[in-house]
Amino acid sequence: MLGSMKRAFSSVVLFVALWNSAFGQSGSLVTATGKPLFTFHNGFWINLHHFLYVLGRARNGTADSQRSPVMHAPEDLEDFNALNKRDRTTWQEAIEFYRNELSKRDVIFDRELIGITRALASVLDSSSLAGTALPSQVRETLERAAPVYRRVWWDRHSRSNKTRITALSALLVQYGPQVSNMLTHIYEQQWPANGLDVEVSAYANWGGAYSIGGGPIIMSSTDDAGTGSEGLEIVFHEAMHQWDDAMIPLLDSTAQRLNVKIPRDLFHSLIFYTAGYVVSRIVPGHRPYAEPLWARGVLPGRTQLDADWLPYLQGNGSLSSAIEKLVGAFKSPPNSLPPSPETQNGKHTDGA
Ligand SMILES: [Zn+2]
Repeated sequence: MLGSMKRAFSSVVLFVALWNSAFGQSGSLVTATGKPLFTFHNGFWINLHHFLYVLGRARNGTADSQRSPVMHAPEDLEDFNALNKRDRTTWQEAIEFYRNELSKRDVIFDRELIGITRALASVLDSSSLAGTALPSQVRETLERAAPVYRRVWWDRHSRSNKTRITALSALLVQYGPQVSNMLTHIYEQQWPANGLDVEVSAYANWGGAYSIGGGPIIMSSTDDAGTGSEGLEIVFHEAMHQWDDAMIPLLDSTAQRLNVKIPRDLFHSLIFYTAGYVVSRIVPGHRPYAEPLWARGVLPGRTQLDADWLPYLQGNGSLSSAIEKLVGAFKSPPNSLPPSPETQNGKHTDGA
């Protein structure tokens, strides 16, 4: 038993070594300019903002408020009833403001909301938002709700964030260099010299994590899916969205050239597939995050990715030829209607 385990372990090590040589060196814990690959933040205002955002969505009864990363937010009420009536009212008014305004919008796509998230990410844990580029009503709502949030939730949320940051940091020390190295080689991209900022928040959105083009990444610390190697895959998945502006046009232009209509979310399937594959090759026993999603048919292209993208991940051929084969696999059979030359821009529609 032990002997066979040792042999199995050796073959995994050998495979990873061979794979590393196909995709370059073993990587580094820091960027080209010596910055960490990811810098984690535990920001008061980002946490307050996202908590109110998901509570507002829950109050609006949006379908996504029943998703597991956010469904328990309205029950997160420990110590709330000990507040006096005035503080409870202040809190309810803040949720009402979000319910009527910000929570009606998509935290990933709405430009103003993205601006608010970015502005709050840059604020230190002060009692005031003075000088922050925020719409005045948003600023006033957050500043009024802040003392209540600090009294009831912040200690607990902050502890949850710190625990998640410690766990993720340990995994990144162990596996981060290899994973980042392989992903950059596979996508033929550079890791940004300044690294990537990750705002860790008790709640993020229904997906548990999301990324804004140009940063930051927002990641929930209360989502069970973000623990262990799954959390490692999620943070790298979000990091891969930084290359959407390169990969989506590459897929679309290839589709146009081959006169093939590809699924809008193919770029996203590519991220799920690639991040899941790479982390499962590096971390023993890791199960790719998307396994249940493929099984439920939520993501397009699993068959084509297995046939035409996997060989490239295994070290065969080039990125351009793999993309060409993958896109070509979506060509309609000759007896069906001709595909429209129009291609669609993909969008990041999940949280992960
Ligand atoms: Zn994603």
